[in-house]
Amino acid sequence: MMNQAERFDRFKVNLNGLYVPKYEALCEYLAEIKYEDGSFWAPYCGIRSANEQDFLYAIGRTRDHKARRKTQAQGWESPHNYGCASDWTKFYPDGKARWDHEFWVDYINGCQQIGLVCGATWKMVDKPHNELKIGLTWAELKPVVLSQGSSAAFALIKAAVK
Ligand SMILES: [Zn+2]
Repeated sequence: MMNQAERFDRFKVNLNGLYVPKYEALCEYLAEIKYEDGSFWAPYCGIRSANEQDFLYAIGRTRDHKARRKTQAQGWESPHNYGCASDWTKFYPDGKARWDHEFWVDYINGCQQIGLVCGATWKMVDKPHNELKIGLTWAELKPVVLSQGSSAAFALIKAAVK
């Protein structure tokens, strides 16, 4: 079972250099909050490849028809594909992650204080999700990646960071 610091390190791997300082600030902020039951905040998803994204998108659509849809974004339409997002929840002493706790406000406050977009505030709520704030939609970057490659998209992200 990974402890909090190990999880912080593991999900920092391959994140975008523009997002890393915010990610680290969130780690620092949430590490300060202690719970009586020994649970702690930690990420469970960071970067995701475009293929992995397409696989997630297919769930509830072209595969596992009865399953709940997991995402609105296809490959290269999610900030996870650019290493600019992470998903978090609380982990408990039994090693398990749980999402049905009542402490989301701690996480949302942290994201807001650091200047990250938090999916908790969206119409299609995605509480565990936070991402880098940019002045573009992630889907707008997809045609750039497909026609000019990912480094062109990364340059656009850099210019659009808020
Ligand atoms: Zn996410």
